Amino acid sequence: MLPVRVRFAPSPTGPFHIGGARSALFNWLFARHYGGKFIVRVEDTDLERSTRESEENILAALKWLGMDWDEGIKVGGANGPYRQTERLDIYRQYIDQLLQNGSAYRCYCTEEELAKERERLLSKGEMPRYLGRCRNLSPEDCSQMEADGRVPVIRFRVPEDKVVLIKDLVRGDVCFDCSGIGDFIILKSDGIPTYNFAVVVDDHLMSISHVIRAEEHLPNTPRQVLVYEALGWTPPEFAHVSLILGKDRTKMSKRHGATAVEQYQAKGYLPEALDNFLALLGWSPGGEEEILTIEQLKQQFTLDRVAKSPAVFDLEKLNWLNGHYIRQSPLNQITDLAIPYLEKAGYICTPLSQEQYEWLKMVVDSVREYLVCLEEITGHVRTFFVEEVEIEGEAAREIMSGEQVPAVLDAMQKRVSASNEITYTGIKGMLKEIGKELGIKGKQIFMPVRVALTGSTHGPDLSQVVVILGKNKVLSRLSNALNSLSS
Ligand code: GLU
Repeated sequence: MLPVRVRFAPSPTGPFHIGGARSALFNWLFARHYGGKFIVRVEDTDLERSTRESEENILAALKWLGMDWDEGIKVGGANGPYRQTERLDIYRQYIDQLLQNGSAYRCYCTEEELAKERERLLSKGEMPRYLGRCRNLSPEDCSQMEADGRVPVIRFRVPEDKVVLIKDLVRGDVCFDCSGIGDFIILKSDGIPTYNFAVVVDDHLMSISHVIRAEEHLPNTPRQVLVYEALGWTPPEFAHVSLILGKDRTKMSKRHGATAVEQYQAKGYLPEALDNFLALLGWSPGGEEEILTIEQLKQQFTLDRVAKSPAVFDLEKLNWLNGHYIRQSPLNQITDLAIPYLEKAGYICTPLSQEQYEWLKMVVDSVREYLVCLEEITGHVRTFFVEEVEIEGEAAREIMSGEQVPAVLDAMQKRVSASNEITYTGIKGMLKEIGKELGIKGKQIFMPVRVALTGSTHGPDLSQVVVILGKNKVLSRLSNALNSLSS
């Protein structure tokens, strides 16, 4: 195989779609698997819709997802510039070459004339395309048009009676009949090239070996192959990756939930989980194991395991993966990631002292098994931050009306008060002793203590809750509960 050089070439025209991230990841994994290069280039020729803000967002999301690039925007390299609007002089040279060898020509048709042609074709039930009115203009015709104030676009002369065969590494052989492709614009009247032309010049000059991109670009590929041929260049290998569908098997869109990478980041999905999930959208590992680290993905990723059939976006799977990574990642890392959510909820103020940080780690550890994404943490930890406990709901009130409750709380209060140090195993022992002393078991002990300390019938491990709250808070909550029982 050629030295692998692949690229991700986003158009910075809006939020970074999950599908774009999947294309980037496939290219990046492919490069890393074969020890090749990954290049990031910005395709900003749509001047009206491209923004620097969108470009920055996309680049930040790539970094967040851990995809580093060897060459390209920001990092530089031998084939720059890497933003298409900064490469206009380069494109101009190849436009001139195509004009000279007859593969392209100036077209002076106005928008109105083209619209009329389009309407006429549609009304006859034909596919709208450019019929080549300016194909054979003489130099004199051109001068006349220009004297009339018309500014030309440059069109590519699509050969008639030709079939373009694309040997796609995912889709197999795909044939396109050129008779269905009208002469297409390669340079607009404002001097800006179109995608189908600029992408060819860039991929060639950047020595791209494989173009791995979304299936929606497959119909563009014959146009690009024709441009390669007209410039005397060999096209790269192509691999068109299937669409991403929602669970209802229609194209993934906002109706199916968040589609932008930054939305997942904001909710507290971990990049490891998203990478793992995205990799499985259209690619499958050799074995049964679906939880794969970035290292494992790099080792295993090849194009022959990329499926032809569409990938289905299954949010439950992403949630399951994210829960897994939240539980498995180092506690410090999860705590650091949780801090912004807790601060926003008003539970903490940064900077934290070392002692506060250590305490917070215990809080995070006690609830992380319940989290699908980090944003949810605020709903689980409230009890650790409030001054007064409120009894929540009928079930909790019912527990507190039990006959044994005053005795349980009283026994707990005495033991906690007498202990010098509150430890996890110490508390476990205490709860057992109370059971023995009062001749009761399990829930009859845990539930009153839990409701007295947290106001709720569910939550993290009770002994862990006691340790986190600490002696003073536990005693004051027990005594408040006892007071409210007797009043
Ligand atoms: N700028 C194109 C897009 O964002 C990239 C197409 C390609 O990879 O060739 O869809």
